Amino acid sequence: MRDMFGPVNSLPGAVTIPRTQWDEMDRLARSVTHGYETGGIVLGSTSAEQFDVTVLGPPGPSATHRPAAFLRDLRTAQALAAEAWEQDRSEWIGEWHTHPRSGLAPSPTDLATYHRHLDDPELRFERFLSVIARPTSDKLLVACWSVSPTTLIRLPVTIYDDPSARSVKRTAPSPDPDLTRATGTYPLSPHS
Ligand SMILES: [Zn+2]
Repeated sequence: MRDMFGPVNSLPGAVTIPRTQWDEMDRLARSVTHGYETGGIVLGSTSAEQFDVTVLGPPGPSATHRPAAFLRDLRTAQALAAEAWEQDRSEWIGEWHTHPRSGLAPSPTDLATYHRHLDDPELRFERFLSVIARPTSDKLLVACWSVSPTTLIRLPVTIYDDPSARSVKRTAPSPDPDLTRATGTYPLSPHS
């Protein structure tokens, strides 16, 4: 239990997402065969537990969609990343994908993938942003997670309407009551 009160918890971060990107994620999440996963690369900037998203990428034409698995198209992600870097120095900060049939927490498979990225010295990730979405009939439920080698922290999300008016912010709708219990810091088993 002591890990629950680690230093990371006293520095709550946040995720910011432009409304245009949020709406696009909502559209993409509904554009695959019902019950199948989709997703894409997440680009932006990050410092400590703060993630400022600029791009929530599409899956791409060669992506693999399954009921409990998703693999984005690498070529699409690379092209988006190169373009975003040219535009405003946005970098690869994470991944988004849908969980049409399960909760909004990363699965063991998801975490294993994120930890592989965190363990790769060439990628130089200190933290990885995991955005997990579930489309419902009236809204898109989303949870954003900061993943480090030892912690998993759920971060609040802010959607804003215009990059030139970032002070006009709107908080994302809260997810289901039963999902809010997932908020907080979770020590993960040491990764080898
Ligand atoms: Zn997943």
